[in-house]
Amino acid sequence: MKSSTLGLVTAGIVVIAGITYVVYYDYQRRKNPAYRQQKSKEKKREIKQAIKTNKQDTLSTIQKVLDLVAQDEYPTLTEEKEAYFMNQVSQGESLVAKGETYYHDSVLPFYRALKVYPKPLDLIMMYQKTVPDAIFQMIISIMSLEQKKMQNGFYEQFPPKSTFVKLAELPSLEARDGDDKQSFRRGLVVDKDIKAGEVIYTETPLISALYPSFEASNCHFCMKSVTMSSIKVACTNCNNVIFCSTECERQGQKLYHQFICTNDKFKASTVGEDFNNYCGRNNLKYPQMIARFLASMVEEEMDDKQTDQQQQHYSSWDHIERMRYLESLPTENTVQEIEMIKRVLANKVPGIDKFLTDDIYLMLRGKLAYNSYPIPVSSAGSDNGVRDGQAGMEEQYRQLPGMDTKDVAGLALYKISTYIGQSMENPNVKIIFAENNNKLSVVATQDIQKGEELITDYVVPL
Ligand SMILES: [Zn+2]
Ligand SMILES: [Zn+2]
Repeated sequence: MKSSTLGLVTAGIVVIAGITYVVYYDYQRRKNPAYRQQKSKEKKREIKQAIKTNKQDTLSTIQKVLDLVAQDEYPTLTEEKEAYFMNQVSQGESLVAKGETYYHDSVLPFYRALKVYPKPLDLIMMYQKTVPDAIFQMIISIMSLEQKKMQNGFYEQFPPKSTFVKLAELPSLEARDGDDKQSFRRGLVVDKDIKAGEVIYTETPLISALYPSFEASNCHFCMKSVTMSSIKVACTNCNNVIFCSTECERQGQKLYHQFICTNDKFKASTVGEDFNNYCGRNNLKYPQMIARFLASMVEEEMDDKQTDQQQQHYSSWDHIERMRYLESLPTENTVQEIEMIKRVLANKVPGIDKFLTDDIYLMLRGKLAYNSYPIPVSSAGSDNGVRDGQAGMEEQYRQLPGMDTKDVAGLALYKISTYIGQSMENPNVKIIFAENNNKLSVVATQDIQKGEELITDYVVPL
């Protein structure tokens, strides 16, 4: 339940809703002053009715609506969405007005309205107050079934077939307290036979960050060391970051930098500078990565509107939500970090103030600590940045064999490679960075048979 609520909240925060809907409900309320009184009488009648109602009817209505909305195509333009929403809601309401016989028929239009509403959770709360309880309960059931369907569908689409790896349900090694039920975990298995030495797949990060002291010498996006001879592209608006190519600049700007650039070539953002200075002073990457992750969610949401709706689209949140994490307690520093991120993103990420609670921040931080891999300092560069000692707060990550902390230029989180299993005794793959940037390759160190789990020998963060 917790995860589905979060999903809804995040789906809602990044869209600025027009005031049309609010105005509509307010209008309804004022137009009909007896509304509330009527509702309570209605409620009593409903309870009696609910007992009589055949459960089978409810189930078949739920199934029918699920099937129909799965085939629906919804409008994408704001004005069309609003018109569609109004139309569905008024259909639903006129059916309700015709009496209990039509309650089941009203579920479909009410649910369709929900599908285009930018803040579904808000609408659910409005439904709770305005529609008869029997209808409300059906809407809730359909929502949770759709959510489940989507969660199961995730592992059919991810990882992409082209990688020849799958996330299989494997028996969990951890015994669960107080029950003998076998539990499962998701493990990464190969979908074909692999020969020793073969590159199984490559992957670029979901999110990454350099140690602050490397920003002057490494690409802000792909983390490659930028030598004297290679192309350097500066950010047009700030002096804090460089890119190795115009393509890295374009992608880095689009995905997150545009949202958190300090803009100091023009009118510097002091909140942005404070945040950078804080991370620099303490040698931190995770607060930066979290700010970038939150910014990239907005970018994704904007991008999403242009993509095909028939293909179920999973967001970065859907990925990160499924990852395991290290639990931790709030400290003075985390409280300060949350405040800084909220200030940096205040105008760019609508709803950030409510969304970024202690719990969510610590969870994101814990996910980064448990799952991030270190990116090595490239051996190619002669003018590499120098690590400012190990002062400040050292963040945890999955240490890779043969890579000392002094060899680490930054950290990165990956969608697929997060699921690589861990064993010091029986590793069958190794992680390498063949292009001297943050693109990760998984290479077989022995023959691996189809269906076998991929395992490497990183140190598990504790
Ligand atoms: Zn680059
Ligand atoms: Zn910039």
